[in-house]
Amino acid sequence: MARKIGSRYTVHQVIGRGSAGTVWLGEGPDGPVAVKLLREDLASDQVLVGRFVQERAALTGLDHPRVVGVHDMVVDGSDLALVMELVQGTDLRTRLERDGVLSPERAVSVIADVADGLAAAHAAGIVHRDVKPENVLLDLAAPPAAGGAPRAKLTDFGIARLVDAPRRTRATRIIGTPDYLAPEIIEGLEPRAAVDIYALATVLYEVLAGFTPFGGGHTGAVLRRHVTESVPPVPGLPDGLWRIIAECLAKAPASRLRAAELAERLREQLPALSGLPPLAVPAQGKPPVEEAITLGEAVYAETDAGPGTHRRRRGPAVPLVPGPSPDSTRDTHTSLRRPSPNELASYAAESDAQRSAAPSAPRKGRRALVRRRRTIAVLIAVVLLVAGAAAAFAAFAGGGGGRGGGRAGMVSPVRSVPVAPSPLDAPLIPRL
Ligand code: ADP
Ligand code: MG
Repeated sequence: MARKIGSRYTVHQVIGRGSAGTVWLGEGPDGPVAVKLLREDLASDQVLVGRFVQERAALTGLDHPRVVGVHDMVVDGSDLALVMELVQGTDLRTRLERDGVLSPERAVSVIADVADGLAAAHAAGIVHRDVKPENVLLDLAAPPAAGGAPRAKLTDFGIARLVDAPRRTRATRIIGTPDYLAPEIIEGLEPRAAVDIYALATVLYEVLAGFTPFGGGHTGAVLRRHVTESVPPVPGLPDGLWRIIAECLAKAPASRLRAAELAERLREQLPALSGLPPLAVPAQGKPPVEEAITLGEAVYAETDAGPGTHRRRRGPAVPLVPGPSPDSTRDTHTSLRRPSPNELASYAAESDAQRSAAPSAPRKGRRALVRRRRTIAVLIAVVLLVAGAAAAFAAFAGGGGGRGGGRAGMVSPVRSVPVAPSPLDAPLIPRL
């Protein structure tokens, strides 16, 4: 069903859905366009709308073949829309999930394209801040590059910065996808261009190996690895290419390559990579643990055997129409938000699963302790009963009734001892 956006655009059909809104196929005065309609809660945020209007010139002015162009921004009633160049193809995440890792030559060509786009943005003073496979679009209508690699374009420039208002950040300090976060962001420094380089090197590692270098497991563990751990080389990767990745994953932002240098150094590698098959990087370490984490309406299955063995697979397709919850299923590190009830439930389910998969030593210990206490209680009860019976017999045999009170006194405790003491009382018994 057609819907008017402002006076110049009409949208027909949803083509994608992301954390900030829904992307529609539309028509403008100059032909087909992609229109990103921001989520209602974002569009109704006056501070955010003001910020969009302020940034309009920066966002629409970034004109580069390796950047998805923003043609227009429309504020129309309750709608806030970004009118973009329409890219006919798919995003890199979908491609990875569908076909697996890319050959080194294609991976390097795609990432060099993205580095070109970043170089243009950085030169214009714009930091992307949300470089990840979801934001790399593969233009399948354009003639392929060397080795049949699809041409890539980077999208969502500036959106992260606009949506990540300080107000929002203070209100909801939950980090979504930490895999691409540069260490200096974790340490609270202002994100500069080098954060995009770190994120892009992480994407390059991922499209070559099938998993991100520091991903896997609890968010806190991922953040710690970014700050403290170094990355082991990807097995089978030519040295020259590995050195470039390692340089861009440097902990110190100043040690990383600049975007233009990165694009150039990557392209120098292309001849040596020609014809190499995709790498088959084995998962290392212990057998993987499958966790299902429900985020909004989609299920992410995570396979984690520690650092360097993380693979993420998105489950059922993300619905193309907005669901009841405005939260996206594709989080970004900048879309900070509170966990939904679903997520909280899944964290609980996750820890239950961990407990039942590997019963903890304290649990085993507790069961053994209860058994031991029960045995001791029964033994003591038997001993006391026997002692009581012996005392009664002695009193009776001694002709006692009221006399021989000392002995008779021995009988009385027997009456008060429960025959089957509760295990809860047991801790007192061994002290007797
Ligand atoms: P997010 O907000 O999570 O970054 P997006 O809204 O940018 O996600 O994109 C959601 C999906 O819509 C993308 O994965 C892509 O498939 C599609 N899409 C986004 N922008 C365009 C575009 N300019 N042309 C064609 N498809 C697009
Ligand atoms: Mg996006």
